[in-house]
Amino acid sequence: MSDFVMTIGGDSVPAADSFGVINPANGDVFAHAPECTREQLDAAFDSAAKAQRDWKLDEAVRRETLLKMADALFASAGELAPILTAEQGKPLAEANVEVFAAAIWCQYFANLETPRQVIQDDAEALVEVVRRPVGVVAAITPWNFPLVLAFWKIAPALLAGNTMVLKPSPYTPLTTLKMTELLRDVMPAGVVNTVSGGDQLGAWMTGHPVPRKVSFTGSIETGKLVAQSAAPDLKRVTLELGGNDPAIVLDDADPAVVSRAIFAAAFANNGQVCSAVKRVYVPEALYDDVLDGLTAQARAVKVGDGTEADSKLGPINNAPQFERVKELVADALAHGARATTGGRPMGRPGYFFEPTILTDISDGTRIVDEEQFGPALPVIPYRDIDDAVERANSTHFGLSGSVWGADADRAAAVADRLECGTAWVNTHLALAPHQPFGGFKWSGVGVENGTWGLAEFTEAQAVHRAKGADGLNLSTAGIYS
Ligand code: NAD
Repeated sequence: MSDFVMTIGGDSVPAADSFGVINPANGDVFAHAPECTREQLDAAFDSAAKAQRDWKLDEAVRRETLLKMADALFASAGELAPILTAEQGKPLAEANVEVFAAAIWCQYFANLETPRQVIQDDAEALVEVVRRPVGVVAAITPWNFPLVLAFWKIAPALLAGNTMVLKPSPYTPLTTLKMTELLRDVMPAGVVNTVSGGDQLGAWMTGHPVPRKVSFTGSIETGKLVAQSAAPDLKRVTLELGGNDPAIVLDDADPAVVSRAIFAAAFANNGQVCSAVKRVYVPEALYDDVLDGLTAQARAVKVGDGTEADSKLGPINNAPQFERVKELVADALAHGARATTGGRPMGRPGYFFEPTILTDISDGTRIVDEEQFGPALPVIPYRDIDDAVERANSTHFGLSGSVWGADADRAAAVADRLECGTAWVNTHLALAPHQPFGGFKWSGVGVENGTWGLAEFTEAQAVHRAKGADGLNLSTAGIYS
């Protein structure tokens, strides 16, 4: 029996089968989540489709609901954050921030203006472009930020008049299940249905005939499968995928300042952030100072169980990811890299890995070329800025990147040359609900957040009102006859 329930059509739905959820801080199963059946998934899509008939009619109700959801999230942080820490591993303070961020996303979209756009108003016609909901959305999320990334989808999708079936990662299903249960009082039944299960459940969702859109956040590998599965039915897709973000330090940067900031942006959430700094390019003249600064930060940071008040970094979330980080670091060391600190698992229960800084390394090594998604950072010297930009861009990834220097205009000119969805100058990981976020190249299709993210949950409709006496605009019709 599972300790958590799914929410379908506003009701608690248990399942005959369940799967264990592991606390990554000790490696033990601490709770069970329901294993959704195909019939239950059908029921979830059916209830989303029924709920959408009314939900799409009244924008004021939708805005009001989003505000109530925000209040309910703020009020339930005390209940949700400990579940998030237990299943994800992040320190409790960060888990609280994630719940608050989910609430802030609801507030932002509740208040976002969605004006009808008049594109012609003359003697012939009034033509407006309006946004219509796509219908039912299948939303699939990863394990690094299960709650806030769900709300990057829920808040705009709901504002636009869609309803949803949401599936969290099997590694972190519990916070999402509990959140939906807690929000039932403020959301009409069927508007958000949350189901849980393994990867197969995601594949059933993307191949299901009811949803008109798939909003997916996860790996590039799975993103490609999602795109293939959505194609025969021409479902709309938004894919938020992996990144391998470069940070380029310029020769006028202050090594002490940048090493602190870059460390924070590389090791946030223990490196398990799609847009974390994943490789650093440093001019030769500053290399030793930046490397020393990053090494000092990595040595000093407190790694521990997320429930301990002084832990700044938790464990890696799951066994396959732990093995992957171990493998990529071992591969780098075997190919001549050196760890100035770290380089190994911490030798305690759970998936703890030492914060690792790698030197004597360059492009062509797996951990530089691939996404490590963990607490290990390669630091690479460069001689010529054009070469650094070339190396930063020579990849299938294109999520984000940053450039660091005392002369912000000069740094911005270099940032302009980065081929990625977000180019930061003297910062990294600055994300906000009004700012579009998405990837170039293999890092994604489409964007989330802001008016651009909202548009992805809509279809554009031109409403053309003829103004002629007989209702027929002959002059325009004549063009095509
Ligand atoms: P993943 O691709 O393994 O899984 C993501 C989700 O997809 C899970 O819910 C999983 O159950 C589901 N899934 C698996 N197979 C599926 C299939 N065939 N069809 C449909 N759904 C399926 O990714 P992950 O390991 O959970 O997350 C880590 C990855 O996510 C990293 O690459 C990271 O960079 C990326 N990510 C991207 C963003 C972004 O906004 N660009 C944000 C966070 C994480």
